[in-house]
Amino acid sequence: MSPQRTCVGCRCTAAPSDLLRLVVDEAARAVVVDERQRLPGRGAYVHPDHECIAVAVRRRAVPRALRAPDVDTSVLSALASAYAKREGSA
Ligand SMILES: [Zn+2]
Repeated sequence: MSPQRTCVGCRCTAAPSDLLRLVVDEAARAVVVDERQRLPGRGAYVHPDHECIAVAVRRRAVPRALRAPDVDTSVLSALASAYAKREGSA
């Protein structure tokens, strides 16, 4: 069994490869997507799905999971709209 991670949106568990890994960029004090899932430090996982990201934003689940309450989460809004567009055009 590969390790499972919990999506901060829907709270379902999934393989890390099915999720986006989010980390804090300490220099920018901002949440960034860890595309290769290799950056050090605490990570938060969310499905690449508009609903999961939107729920995570509403609950402020990402800064909580990352233990970084004052961090800039604007990347999440960008991700949410990006995945919303992809679903709409499919
Ligand atoms: Zn999810």
